[in-house]
Order: sequence, then C-alpha cells, then structure tokens
Amino acid sequence: MTILSGRAWITGASSGIGAATAKILAKNGAKVVLSARRTEQLELLSQEIERAGGQCVIKALDVTDREAVAQLGDELETMGGVDILINNAGLMPLSPMLEGRVDEWERMIDVNIKGLLYVIHAVLPGMAKRKHGHIVNIGSVAGRFAFKGAAVYCGTKFAVRAISDSLRREAIEYGVRVTDIEPGAVATELADSIKHEATKEAVTGQGGFYAPDANILQAEDIASAILYVLSQPDRVNVGELLIRPRIQE
Ligand code: NDP
Repeated sequence: MTILSGRAWITGASSGIGAATAKILAKNGAKVVLSARRTEQLELLSQEIERAGGQCVIKALDVTDREAVAQLGDELETMGGVDILINNAGLMPLSPMLEGRVDEWERMIDVNIKGLLYVIHAVLPGMAKRKHGHIVNIGSVAGRFAFKGAAVYCGTKFAVRAISDSLRREAIEYGVRVTDIEPGAVATELADSIKHEATKEAVTGQGGFYAPDANILQAEDIASAILYVLSQPDRVNVGELLIRPRIQE
C-alpha cells in the first residue's frame, strides 16, 4: 500500500516507538532512514523492512553529537532531502529531585531537548526551501501534566510541546507541518533508563505502569497514530495528539 512518498528520517529507530514507526512508514511507501546508536538493532530492522519490500538505509547517530547530526542532515540533503522527520530519540531516567541526580537531568536535557533541536535544525532549512515537509516530535502525556518524581523528564517534554507549537506557527509561512505526539504509557525499553531502584520498582514492579502484565499501549499503537497524522491532506495539520492507554488517568 502506498500512502506516503518521499524520505522519512526516524531518530531512535533501534527500538520501541521508533522501530514500530519505521516499519509502518516503510510499509506505506516512505523511504526510511533509521538512526540510533545501536547499529546491530538497526541492521536487523533494516533487513526486516527490506524483506517486506520496503526501502531503508541505516545511520549510526548519537543525537547529542551536534556535528554528526548536522553532517547526516547535509548527507540526506544531497540525496534529495527529508520529507518527514520523526524526532523520537529520548530517555526517561526518573528519580526524586531530592536525590540530586544532576548527570541524569543533564542527559535528559541533552537528548530530549537539545538532540531534538539539533535534528530539527538539520532538516528545517531544506524543508523550508522546498516549502514541503512534516516534523513529528515525540512528546509525552508528561508534556501536558507534571507527575511526581518526574520533574526533569516532564520539563523536557513540556519543552517539546512548546517547541513544537511555536515551530508549527512559524512554519505556516514556509509550508512545513509540525506535530507533537503525546503518548501515555507504552510498553517499550524506555523504563530501562530508570536507574533509581525505588522508582524503577514502583514503575516496573507489580501494579506499576510498566509492569510486564500491564495493559498499556504497544509501540504499534503510536506508530498507527503517526501514520494517521502523516496521511492527512496537505491542508490539515494535526498539531498535537494525546494517546493514553484506556486504563491511564
Ligand atoms: P525506547 O527506549 O525503546 O527507545 C528510545 C530510543 O531512543 C532508542 O532507539 C534509543 O536508541 C534512542 N536514543 C536514546 N538516546 C539516544 C541518543 N543519545 N542518540 C540517539 N538515539 C538515542 O523507548 P520508546 O520507544 O518508548 O521512546 C521513544 C520516545 O517516546 C522517547 O522520546 C520517549 O520519551 C517517548 N515516550 C515514550 C513513552 C513510553 O511510555 N514508552 C510515553 C511517552 C513518550 P539507541 O540506544 O540505539 O541510541
């Protein structure tokens, strides 16, 4: 089935939402560029996509490496540019503020905010020049509501929401669409980034949102929402989409 055309760059494509989105976009006609640090996972995913008839390239990339992000943006520009950006790389090492895990705060700001901005910068001039493109930032329900024990993570996702909406308004004049996708709890590897033991137990243990038997969203649920957003007629810009598991308040 071909709903999409052009090139889609997906950051954080090595697992979870990024990997599921890569598969659905490739299946629906996009040429996908998969980037992340874990290239073995990207290699496996790319083989799966190609076996299913999709077109795919993989690129090792740490989104906190500003120069490397810019270089990949330039490389993709010489290949004809990026039509769709799925700005998805992120991490969530939750802990109480009183613990003072400043290195983890900095890491979240570096990846979830600064990395997202570097990637936007790598594609935006090309999109603006062509007056065509769609930037999909992966925010969170934690960018709408602040949760206890998640101050810095929520701060980064509130920032993603603000950046997305401001850019959406600015980009009207150069024909680029911008969407903030705001998932509730999704069963992915995200909770593995939590290193504070009590928080990890509360979140992944019995009764936690990310407990093995929790009836939360699957990465494919978010990937379908992204496909919906991308397949709207050009006159439509879904500015933000909040998707929770039915059981999440
Ligand atoms: P995963 O942990 O499965 O995926 C995170 C991805 O981010 C991985 O592919 C990882 O790749 C990549 N990543 C992390 N750090 C970097 C870095 N420095 N450079 C490049 N890539 C990096 O979790 P999800 O799929 O759940 O997370 C995807 C996005 O969805 C995140 O932004 C997250 O905040 C958001 N989200 C997730 C929710 C959930 O409940 N799961 C809810 C709301 C939002 P690698 O390690 O190979 O570099």
